[in-house]
Amino acid sequence: MIPFLDLKKINAPVRSELLEAIAEVIDSGWYILGKKVVTFEQEFASYCGVKHVIGTGNGLESLILIIRACKELGIFDDGDEIIVPSNTYIASILAITENSLKPILVEPNLDNYNLDANLLEKNISKKTKAILTVHLYGQISYSEKLQAVADQYDLKIIEDCAQAAGAEMNGRKTGALGNAAGFSFYPSKNLGALGDAGAVTTDDDKLAATVRALRNYGSDKKYFNTFKGINSRLDELQAAVLLVKLKYLDSQNEKRRQIAKRYVTEIKNEKLALPLFSDDKSHVWHLFVIRTDQREEFAKYLLDQGIETVIHYPLPPHQQQAFIEWNSLNYPISEKIHQTVVSLPLNEGMTEGEITRVIEVCNAY
Ligand SMILES: *Cc1c(COP(=O)(O)O)cnc(C)c1O
Repeated sequence: MIPFLDLKKINAPVRSELLEAIAEVIDSGWYILGKKVVTFEQEFASYCGVKHVIGTGNGLESLILIIRACKELGIFDDGDEIIVPSNTYIASILAITENSLKPILVEPNLDNYNLDANLLEKNISKKTKAILTVHLYGQISYSEKLQAVADQYDLKIIEDCAQAAGAEMNGRKTGALGNAAGFSFYPSKNLGALGDAGAVTTDDDKLAATVRALRNYGSDKKYFNTFKGINSRLDELQAAVLLVKLKYLDSQNEKRRQIAKRYVTEIKNEKLALPLFSDDKSHVWHLFVIRTDQREEFAKYLLDQGIETVIHYPLPPHQQQAFIEWNSLNYPISEKIHQTVVSLPLNEGMTEGEITRVIEVCNAY
């Protein structure tokens, strides 16, 4: 059996390093907002090339905190609009609605599944304040065109980096492309903790200070509250784990890229639409997503051959019950994506033999 993702296998090579880091935390007697969080924030800031990193509880709350901080700073108001891709994972959209702002869904490109920058302008109104760009499946969703539209209409760019830690474009990493970014370190992400964890990155001093207070009850100083904040802190144990795993992020992303390269060059089957591969670092292959019209049949065929797949994602946000007010709207590209995508196993725990087997079985379909 080739599992879609075996986290035990992924973490096994660093098991003893992780145990040592965890023991240090236990022995320190300090478990919340201590040295490990501060050190991780510094190291991740230098890794991403940003001034500030604020550790948070998870990816969703990272995005919620950025938007909330913009409200506290008077940049956004209730009812303002934020553009977001119609095919994103639901969390990007919830971060907007949770703040009483309005998500404006914009269709992606079918060739890279990311926001179509040519559709931005016609979706901008007087209320539009930001573009929440999502580096979906690990591929950077940022371009000169997107930046130019943001500049022209005075929009903030917020990055959803949950799937793209370590991706880079022209020497700039995700997290440093827009005004602020939210990361998730959910265990299956490219940089994965051993539980929930997240971070906000930004170069903006005021935004950073506001997020830092908001994640800790809105307090800058213990027992004195500037804002009505929340509790969304990165804890010491997860920070200790992330400090170990950050050292290996680049080499593991490189391994993912090599697997993607093999898949793209060696899978040859007209029934399968493969992603585009380019030999730069703008894609860290969090997921290897292909499209096929007979998705269920194909997934069953692979499973019969001992290969597990997952669908990211089966139902678009506008068709979810949670967004019943959007259920009658049409986003044909997003719908087509959600009806036809299937993700092949791609992770740094795979052996060459397993990669070859996936290729052969796809070719024999
Ligand atoms: C995982 C993910 C999130 C949410 O992260 P959590 O840590 O699970 O809250 C947000 N956006 C995208 C695109 C994701 O993949």
